[in-house]
Amino acid sequence: MNAFIDKMRRRAGRYLDVRPSPIRPARGTFSLSFDDIPVTAWTEAGPILAEHGIQATYYVCGGLAGSQNLGLPQFDPEDLEAIHDAGHEVGCHTFEHVSTLRIGAAELDASLARNAAWVSDVLDGYEMRTFAYPFGDCALAAKAVIDQRFLCGRGVRDGVNTGSADRNLLQAIGLESRRLPGYDLEALMSETAKQNGWMIAYGHDVMDGPTPYGCTPDDLDRVIRLAKAAGLDILPVAAAWEKMAA
Ligand SMILES: [Zn+2]
Repeated sequence: MNAFIDKMRRRAGRYLDVRPSPIRPARGTFSLSFDDIPVTAWTEAGPILAEHGIQATYYVCGGLAGSQNLGLPQFDPEDLEAIHDAGHEVGCHTFEHVSTLRIGAAELDASLARNAAWVSDVLDGYEMRTFAYPFGDCALAAKAVIDQRFLCGRGVRDGVNTGSADRNLLQAIGLESRRLPGYDLEALMSETAKQNGWMIAYGHDVMDGPTPYGCTPDDLDRVIRLAKAAGLDILPVAAAWEKMAA
């Protein structure tokens, strides 16, 4: 029964309170993001991003710092500083990594405020400008809260954002070992280029023998090479958004 209610609530979040924003970058655009920040999303992925000369978005939960999540060690505050110093965007993923289906609007807002304060403390006043929903769960009441605090919010529903998209629930593709075999990345990227769309990818751990939610270093390298080959601009989420709005 609870699973059924969650399904209905996810559907309400998807179809109601849609705030469409035009997605028409001058060139097709690709954004890479990492959620939760298992430490390998930095130690393994960071050098690959640097080698390609690109920046990504790291969606952080202050409450996961120095902890284990899904059996994997997560980032430390020093990692977050290094991520920020390397020019990557730091985005918000709630403080506790809580599903918006489990909390009300006021509680969500408090979690976002807690995360903002934590990040500001670690990164010397830094303000996060974009959001990713933990578990991809978007409750209807959460959308107005996200709209007020951020430029945009990203879910995990498969797809490329083209033409117009709900800015509080952008679509994405998973750099996840359980999902990657199901994508024709070349076709998705060439379609993104042709339609001047915005493809956002999200991942978690980056290592050989990744979890179902992560990918290998080779997978990451390949995705970046394909995006470049398709002629896509590669930008963090907030920078891509701003370029589109300009
Ligand atoms: Zn997450």
